[in-house]
This record gives sequence, structure tokens and C-alpha cells, in this order.
Amino acid sequence: THVAMHSSGFREFLLKPELERVIGDCGFEHPSEVQNECIPQAILGTDVVCQAKSGMGKTAVFVLSTLQQIDNNPTGITTLVLCNTRELAYQICDEFDRFTKYLPNVKTAVIYGGIPVQVHKDLIKEKQPNIIIGTPGRILQLASDSSLSLKGIKQFILDECDTMLESLDMRKDVQKIFKLIPANKQVMMFSATLSDSIRPVCKKFMNNPLEIYINDGSKLTLHGLQQYYVNLQETEKNKKLIELLDSLDFNQAVIFVKSVQRAAALNKILQEIGFPSICIHRDLSQTERIEQYRKFKNFESRIMVATNIFGRGIDVERVNVVINYDMAESADTYLHRVGRAGRFGTKGLAISFITSDEDKEVLANVQSKFVVSVKDLPAKIDPSTY
Ligand code: ADP
Ligand code: MG
Repeated sequence: THVAMHSSGFREFLLKPELERVIGDCGFEHPSEVQNECIPQAILGTDVVCQAKSGMGKTAVFVLSTLQQIDNNPTGITTLVLCNTRELAYQICDEFDRFTKYLPNVKTAVIYGGIPVQVHKDLIKEKQPNIIIGTPGRILQLASDSSLSLKGIKQFILDECDTMLESLDMRKDVQKIFKLIPANKQVMMFSATLSDSIRPVCKKFMNNPLEIYINDGSKLTLHGLQQYYVNLQETEKNKKLIELLDSLDFNQAVIFVKSVQRAAALNKILQEIGFPSICIHRDLSQTERIEQYRKFKNFESRIMVATNIFGRGIDVERVNVVINYDMAESADTYLHRVGRAGRFGTKGLAISFITSDEDKEVLANVQSKFVVSVKDLPAKIDPSTY
């Protein structure tokens, strides 16, 4: 009947009751398109390489598929998730922890560089995690000296897979880790951007995968997101930024800059004139980085000044404004950055400062690749529209 055809709830995936129940608790009513496309096959152990819009719930695809397949009382490490930044590793772990609410014997751990390796060795021994989320360098280090056994792994997952495989250092580590895992594993990879050149690289890790690609750039456009640019001189950026922060009605905002030095300097300026900002970049200590991330996530601070390390994957529900104080260096980077606003189809506003010819070129690429029109920032924007 008409109704049956259109009812596409999570129930149809026939997930175990412990998952159905927690999905209800989370308030997830309907699966997103990417969840509908991937979950039915992924829970059968099929390899998956999947491109889907920012903010549409790719994490839940691999979290639910993994938890559906895992034994409710697992032993050893069964699942390894690799991603490109430490903050994202934390976030993914939080998502696993949320969905294991009724699977109390499934244990997770986050592992990344920047803290003493002994901490992780102790963690693995004491906690005996089943699902590990981490960055490649430290995982490889632990696996190589056999502090971490990868022999029982059933799922091997790469989030933000294009950036991980495009960076040759990371790709090498990923390959070495891959070889330490037995051959019969399920491999899943995800990103909002998967260029023609990286797709075959992803597939090299897989057997007969379900492949979901988006070849029409317009399908990557976030429709709730308004996008504008401002032409200005480098020396006018601070004045314009402050004017925007004063006039825009934002819940939380992320301001992207192109270097660590600029992030620290801009953050200091904002704090000195009374804006509640914090910043995140590679030169902060590991504990500071995670602390800033937590503060922002918990709404203790409303402005985050960040480099590209915060540009992918990070999901902070209340972010509705993204400002490219320094324009992104590529169209793909732009897409990931502005996707920090407008999560799961919500509204948002992205404003890019354009100073150089390179900036103009990236802006032109964004508009043609993603078939979106980025307009000159008007004097006033109705706050109810973002
Ligand atoms: P992606 O990785 O595709 O960019 P995320 O996995 O970070 O997106 O999900 C974005 C947000 O959407 C998260 O806060 C997540 O909890 C939420 N979400 C995911 N799936 C659903 C759903 N089916 N219904 C409601 N919210 C969802
Ligand atoms: Mg993601």
C-alpha cells in the first residue's frame, strides 16, 4: 500500500533489539538516504566505499553495522576505525559509546599520538577494548611491537578515507596496518569527497564492495546552508570579522584560518576584545586540544578559531555559522569546512573572505564543482534564515 511503501524506519533493517532501543532513545526517527543505502548490505559483512554529503549520518552507518555484527559479549579486538585527527577519533568513540548503551560488554578505546605510548599499553591491558578508534601512526606503533593484536579484527573502517589515503605518510601506515589484519575482514570507507583518482586506491583494500559515489557535484550541496563571500584586503579582515561577530545572530561559529600562527594570533585578538573564543591547532598539547574540543562541544565557548584539523568530520550541533577568514585552499576543503554548519539538514551560514587571485579561483571552482551560487554578502541577512 501507499503507507507501506513510504514507511522506511530503522525497523526495516531488522537490527538487534539492543540497537533498536537505543536508536529510539537517540531520537533518530528515519534513516537518512546514505543509511538506507548502506546499512542493509553493511550488516551482512559487505565491503563498502561510500561518498555522501556532510552531516548525513555516515558515522551511524559504520557504528550500527559494526554493533549489529559484533557478539554481545565479545573477546579481543574485533573492530578498528582509523581517522585523520584525534578530535574526530574522540567523536567517533562517543558515537560508539552512545549506541552501546544496551550492550554493556562491548568496550571501546581511543588511541592516538601525542601522549606517552605506555598510557595506551596500560589501557589496552586493563580495559581490554573490543572496538578501537585511532589515528594510524600510534596504532601502527602499538601493533608493530605487539602491544595491540589485530588478529581478531572483523571490521576495518576508514573515516575521511580520501584525506587519509591522499597523504602518502598516512597511506603507508594504513597499508601496514591493513597487512597485519587477517584477510577475511570487512572493510568500510567513508567521505563526503572521493575524487576519481582516489576511488581505485580505496578499492584496492576491498573485495567486491558496495560502491556509492556522487558524480554530480550539485548533490553534495547543503541546501540549508547560505553561502556568501566578501571581497576585501588582508588588512581589512579583522575589522570585518568583528563587525560580523557583532551583527550576526550565531549560536556557535567556527572561524577557519590557514596556519597555526594565525589561529593563535587571531584567537588572542578576539579574546582581548572580549569575544569568548578558543582555538584549536596542531601545536597545542594533546590534553589542551581535547579540552578545547570538549569545551566547544559542550557549548562552554561559542567561537572556535581553527585550522583545517577542525575542518572535517567534526559534528557540533549548534554551529550555524562558518567563516573562512582565510579562504580554503581547494574546493573540497571548502566543502568540508562549511559542512560544519548545517548538520543533518539544518540551517546555516557560511561566509568566505576573498583577498587574492587564488582565493577567487577556489571560489570559482566551488561554484562550478558543487553547482552552487555563492553571492556577495548583503548588508543584512534575516537571522531566522540561518
Ligand atoms: P557525516 O559523517 O555524514 O558528516 P555524522 O555521522 O557526523 O555525519 O552525523 C551528523 C549528525 O546527524 C550527528 O549529530 C548524528 O547524531 C545525526 N544523525 C545521524 N543519523 C541520524 C538520523 N537517522 N536521524 C537523526 N539524526 C541523525
Ligand atoms: Mg563523518
